Amino acid sequence: MGEKQDLKSLPRKELIKWFEQHNFTGFRAKQVFNWLFKNGVDHFAEMTNLPAGLRDKIAEKAFIYRLSCQESSKATDGTIKYLWLLSDHELIESVYLPGEQGRNTVCISSQVGCMLNCRFCATGSGGLVRNLTSGEIVDQVLKMQAEISQEGFGEPRISNVVLMGMGEPLANLEHVLAAVEIINDRAGLNIGMRKITISTSGLVPGIRTLAERDLQLVLAISLNAPNNQLRSYLMPINQKYPLEELLAASRYYIKKTGRRITFEYVLIKDVNESVQLARATASLLQGILCNVNLIPLNSVNDFKLKKPDRKRINRFKEILEEQGIETTIRQERGSKIEAACGQLRRLKQ
Ligand code: SAH
Ligand code: SF4
Repeated sequence: MGEKQDLKSLPRKELIKWFEQHNFTGFRAKQVFNWLFKNGVDHFAEMTNLPAGLRDKIAEKAFIYRLSCQESSKATDGTIKYLWLLSDHELIESVYLPGEQGRNTVCISSQVGCMLNCRFCATGSGGLVRNLTSGEIVDQVLKMQAEISQEGFGEPRISNVVLMGMGEPLANLEHVLAAVEIINDRAGLNIGMRKITISTSGLVPGIRTLAERDLQLVLAISLNAPNNQLRSYLMPINQKYPLEELLAASRYYIKKTGRRITFEYVLIKDVNESVQLARATASLLQGILCNVNLIPLNSVNDFKLKKPDRKRINRFKEILEEQGIETTIRQERGSKIEAACGQLRRLKQ
């Protein structure tokens, strides 16, 4: 018999295939898909256009995964941080960031923990526990959509999804891509590919795979330093995939997809924010179709690292812009509620 299938983990085509393999019809699969991802329904009993007998038969072979909310906290700027309990009692985090003109972003996790151990990151310090399933990835969006909806599963709508929560998305690529397919599906959450961002620490094979798939999503690469010595100090993964290989993969990605890359740069006081390093970053990225997103460090309590003063952050930006590189500074939001990469879960351990 094997284990029951989680229906929330299956993109529409796979769901149809699964239904047909189990002697249900594709038509019923489409109805179920609609209930799950357009209406946020979590129980077969709520799927009222399916005959009760059929619902029971499906439930013998399948289940609907659901996260449960362990805790949520809302900051004064409207940011809401969620801590979700998984069925094996692990915890993951997501953040809802309401914006202007209907731009409502959710930041979601792709793994429990992370194996890459970046020096400044709260998630990495505890190691990797496991990959999330596609259902666990998608359900973060579904649960937040349900939580923020004034009534039912409606307005305000989540418009943007960023995979910048806990974990390294490209280390769990197949589950992440299945989740992205569901999130993007018109019959599902219907969030445009260009509104979905995958952030990676720079796993070169994953970047090349993404290039081959030629999706229109936004690829963000965490750069954090313009030379191998400093980058390896901050991000040990750089020893495996040094800057030369990372930039070659980036160029390949741009050539294949025609899409620009966002390079993220976490600014850490006295570590990677000098004028020389700003200049070196500008020359490293010269000629690459990209923009830079500067992220002032969100200090993790017991690490000694701090964010630079505003003046120095602005200076770093100006130097990049003088060299023609479009640069933004990420707004710091929700830091009072520990709404940064792995911080809330860490407080619970
Ligand atoms: N593993 C992926 C995605 C999750 S981290 C990656 O590393 O890109 C998402 C972003 O948060 C990365 O750009 C990372 O550099 C940044 N980040 C991690 N810890 C941070 C902290 N304490 N303060 C600010 N940004 C942080
Ligand atoms: Fe992992 Fe990203 Fe944190 Fe590095 S910054 S430890 S890759 S989650």
